[in-house]
Amino acid sequence: MHRALEGPDGKAGRVADASVAPVPTHLAAISEHLAAMRIAESSHLVGAWAHDLTADRVIWSETFRAMLDIPRTEMPSLEGFVARVHPADRDSVLDHLRRVLDGEDGTGFCFRIERNGCCAHFEARIVIDRDREGRPTRAHGTIQDITERRAAEEELRRKSAYLNAILDHLPQAVSVFDEHLRLQCWNGRFAQVIGVPPHMLDYNARFEDIYRVPAERGEFGPGNPDDLVEQRRRLAASFEPLLFERTRTDGRTLLIAREPLYIDGRVAGLVTTYTDISERKRIEAEVRHLAHHDALTGLANRGLLDARLQQAIADARRGSQQLAVLFLDLDRFKNINDSLGHHVGDALLMQVADRLRAEMRETDTVARLGGDEFVIALQGIGGASDVARMTESLLERLSAPYMVDGTELHATPSIGISLFPADGMDANTLLRNADAAMYHAKALGRANYQFFTDALNQSTTARLELENRLRRAIGSNEFELWYQPLLDASGTTLNGFEALLRWRSDSETLHLPSTFIPIAEDTGMIVELGRWVLREACVQAQRWSEFGPGRPRISVNLSARQLRDVRFADTVADILAETGLEPSMLELEITESSVMDRPDEAVALLHRLKQLGVGIAIDDFGTGYSSLSYLKMFPLDRLKIDGSFVCDIDNDPNDSAIVSAAVSLAHNLGLPVVAEGVETAAQALHLARLGCDELQGFHFSRPMPALEADAMLRMQSW
Ligand code: C2E
Ligand code: MG
Ligand code: MG
Repeated sequence: MHRALEGPDGKAGRVADASVAPVPTHLAAISEHLAAMRIAESSHLVGAWAHDLTADRVIWSETFRAMLDIPRTEMPSLEGFVARVHPADRDSVLDHLRRVLDGEDGTGFCFRIERNGCCAHFEARIVIDRDREGRPTRAHGTIQDITERRAAEEELRRKSAYLNAILDHLPQAVSVFDEHLRLQCWNGRFAQVIGVPPHMLDYNARFEDIYRVPAERGEFGPGNPDDLVEQRRRLAASFEPLLFERTRTDGRTLLIAREPLYIDGRVAGLVTTYTDISERKRIEAEVRHLAHHDALTGLANRGLLDARLQQAIADARRGSQQLAVLFLDLDRFKNINDSLGHHVGDALLMQVADRLRAEMRETDTVARLGGDEFVIALQGIGGASDVARMTESLLERLSAPYMVDGTELHATPSIGISLFPADGMDANTLLRNADAAMYHAKALGRANYQFFTDALNQSTTARLELENRLRRAIGSNEFELWYQPLLDASGTTLNGFEALLRWRSDSETLHLPSTFIPIAEDTGMIVELGRWVLREACVQAQRWSEFGPGRPRISVNLSARQLRDVRFADTVADILAETGLEPSMLELEITESSVMDRPDEAVALLHRLKQLGVGIAIDDFGTGYSSLSYLKMFPLDRLKIDGSFVCDIDNDPNDSAIVSAAVSLAHNLGLPVVAEGVETAAQALHLARLGCDELQGFHFSRPMPALEADAMLRMQSW
């Protein structure tokens, strides 16, 4: 290494003066360098230096000194420079200088110095002048402070490292193309999603080159590689935002969002994200399926059946074809459900659904409406005999024994059939008529099928008409309550009245409950009607209580539907409060079957009613389950023996025995007994002897309008 020589004081201006007088060659050379230094230093960012190797003299510029924090008093020297270099870089700097002098290529190197406790970065350039023999005569160069640039580079490097980490972390695949549609940025998922090997993705790679591989395989993209050019042209022409879905050959669906990328307010490229939405699609499909199918059997539900029927009707109309609707109900399914439990019932329904599916053609629709009701729509049938043949085979198949939990079960269907266009031109009519035909099949002894007929048509129409009139009747006060007395066993004391509903549809016709209560129950109108009955009866009983002592209690009949109304107890409480009737004066009559549907809920409701202070009687006892266990479970106050045991009691010893057993059972439970339907004095006597506490029937009085009941009460003249 050449030793550094003492140089001039380093001031460029003063050395320039020296060039006026004749100067030694090396000084001339140095002044030449100093002139160059002035130019280089004009930016004040570059420090310059020169080393006359022959004379071993070093000079450095003012900026050089300032940059490296070298005091003015220090003479320029190579050692002086090296001493400023950060210890960690010294060896590499010396090594570099040595190699350059030895003629190796390379003109630049970097080094650090310590400045104010931090590292400052410099970039050095070096040029070697040589004589004719190639010996180095001069070394000269510049240094530049690159600390800020380094910091900026470092920041950029960190930022891009974070950016890459974020990109690779995203659940989406991302690509960024510049305005010439060359790839600028992408993440790991991008290669996976478009199906190209990662090594084919290169900075500046062209759009059409990247997508060619998947396009040729038909795996992703437009399918035809030629389209790529067109697609590229269109993309380049318009950087409009775009959202679309693509399904890959492996079945996965991607949601692709293209957005223009703006830099400094102008379009600089295109950002595309690819989101795998296969799972969302799957869930959506599942939800769609659930919305249109019955959860238990997987068959079509009511909504889907309606849609399919409408479509089938439209098709049949166009092709002048026939269509059959089969309404199918399992016989005595309720018995299986009640006696063996719901899980057995459900398993049976699933097996029925399987058999239906197996029996029907692809084009037919098999639906479950709920419970044990199924509907089948048969398209393109030849005629009624065709349908009859198919139905017979279905009947046979469904009637074969079922195995559930190792138990052999027998369930037969009753099937009603309606035909398009003969039995109806729309889905509702066809369904209603098939339903009516199914009821007819049940009435004919079950396990058979019936076509809809004109006679059925007439009764269905009549029922529909009645339904409409009933609906109107509720709004126009056509209902009345009649009252039938309940007497003590001796038949001398009036204990209460039972309120019985009547419908006066016109001045001549007074309908009995049996003609309209079932319709009111089916249609749900009974809830509103029942509320009216309850209110009217309470108003009446409250009026009677003002007549004086010995006032009668009032009994009101409830239907199963009212008991299923969750707000029923509140309704009763409201009516009592509104009418001012003392709760103990009201007794609600329920039948066994109305509570056996959902015994747990019924028990809860009856307890709530009990808490209000209202009495509860079991009506028509003996006709239903007559189960002892629920008698214990329900909070009852009275038991009413059905009239069917009373009418023959004098002749049929069985009836007498049944009444006697019921009386002792009720008395053991502390419940008084009423016998209804007492028509003769002999019956009254017989029942009194068997221990009945109260009697009700035509023998004492028929049901009567309120005014007559008023009069009876006033006169106490029964
Ligand atoms: P129910 O509660 O068992 O009422 C007794 C029925 O027997 C009444 O028939 C009554 O007229 C009739 N009856 C009374 N004594 C005799 C008799 O000596 N011989 C014969 N053969 N029948 C007698 P009605 O009024 O036709 O009511 C029939 C059923 O309709 C009632 O049976 C009750 O279950 C229901 N019902 C009546 N009114 C209402 C109501 O407001 N709401 C509800 N949900 N059902 C009601
Ligand atoms: Mg009753
Ligand atoms: Mg009764």
